[in-house]
Amino acid sequence: MSSSVALRLPSIDGLLRHPACAPLAERYGRDSLLTGLRQLLDELRPGVLSGQLAAVEIGAEVLAGRVGERLAQQQRSQVRRVFNLTGTVLHTNLGRALLPDEAIEAVQMAARYPLNLEFDLASGKRGDRDDLIEGLIRELTGAEAVTVVNNNAAAVLLTLNSLGARKEGIISRGELIEIGGAFRIPDIMARAGVRLHEVGTTNRTHARDYEAAISPRSGLIMRVHASNYSIEGFTARVPTAELAELAHAHGLPLLEDLGSGSLLDLTRWGLPAEPTVRQALLDGADIVTFSGDKLLGGPQAGLIVGRKELIAKIKKNPLKRALRVDKLTLAALEAVLGLYRDPDRLAERLPSLRLLTRPQAEIFAQAARLQPLLADVLGEVWQVSAVEALGMIGSGSQPVARLPSAALCCRPQVSKRWRGRYLLNLEAALRGLPVPVLGRIGDDALWLDLRQLDDEPAWLAQLAQLQVDR
Ligand SMILES: *Cc1c(COP(=O)(O)O)cnc(C)c1O
Repeated sequence: MSSSVALRLPSIDGLLRHPACAPLAERYGRDSLLTGLRQLLDELRPGVLSGQLAAVEIGAEVLAGRVGERLAQQQRSQVRRVFNLTGTVLHTNLGRALLPDEAIEAVQMAARYPLNLEFDLASGKRGDRDDLIEGLIRELTGAEAVTVVNNNAAAVLLTLNSLGARKEGIISRGELIEIGGAFRIPDIMARAGVRLHEVGTTNRTHARDYEAAISPRSGLIMRVHASNYSIEGFTARVPTAELAELAHAHGLPLLEDLGSGSLLDLTRWGLPAEPTVRQALLDGADIVTFSGDKLLGGPQAGLIVGRKELIAKIKKNPLKRALRVDKLTLAALEAVLGLYRDPDRLAERLPSLRLLTRPQAEIFAQAARLQPLLADVLGEVWQVSAVEALGMIGSGSQPVARLPSAALCCRPQVSKRWRGRYLLNLEAALRGLPVPVLGRIGDDALWLDLRQLDDEPAWLAQLAQLQVDR
């Protein structure tokens, strides 16, 4: 039988008046405190009734402490900074490109003050938000006209719907790709109201395949950058210039979805070659679409550039309104594009390019410097070494190309059957740090690729808090 003196939970009123709760009311507000206390008491009630809880567990100080922890937890932002040590620089799940200071300042300005988003300061009349960056994008790409939307998926959807609805879109079978996050070219075409007419084969598509598909039902020819996979071996692809000629001979527009789409030739920084937007237009593509937050290094956006009358048609589509960019994005994009006017200093000023071009020797020196510190925190069970590693650009740029980098490689010195568990525990512990550290597990080790560790002090400052379960 339970004891004769029944334990009772403190009353809400009593708790609210208790000195231990006063600072919580001050900090989180009375309503939040009240809700927190009610929830906690409701959870504890069964334990009290069944006699499983001791008096010390329901003292006012203890309850105040528990509610305080919860309120602190709730107040913590869900959107959190992390360390991306995965080795993939433009990581879609981790927010892709990091903005340069110039863009961050522009975003702050746009967030804080009214601005001429759709207002022409010269004439005092209503303006168009695209006008704010049209000149800059034309200068950087050679395009006749420009419009900007929420992301590249939106750019592709809007372009297809504007130029090809109720008609056929001709595309090579080798380009019917899935980008991830359920973005598949055949599905987007269907949603855009364009009837898919696939030609050629997975590995080889010839000009004659396109030509045979052209009919009065045709609305456009589309070309998609293969982005996240590569076809090698016995392959054939029609060069853009030749495809453009064919399209134009039949009065059809050629759309090119470049995906990442670089504004400059990246080989000048020793990076793998990516097709540039300017070259695609020079080759005769009528519309080119690309992302703002991939190789461009800016905010999430979809840029649509190309022939004036086609852009005008795209801008008139009511979907444009649904897919338009917001003022913060436009402000950031203008600032990022402005940096491209001085390519010589771009790699210093644009974070994504700076990180992509960090020399392997520098990253290795950093790994060697941090190795003893991490080894010390992890203890004997872990063998930590500074090693050369291979990273990736990410976001579908150059899927097969690898970036020579360096990493801290952590191997648990335990028998094979325990290794997986140790690695998962280390991974979880790193993820549990105040600024979560994300690496990657492979080859019986956990790898922290240091290419993107440019805030070393912040990383080191929390290292002592690392506690790995066994
Ligand atoms: C990434 C990509 C997209 C989608 O771009 P988002 O900016 O992520 O919407 C579309 N097409 C290609 C070829 C891509 O690589």
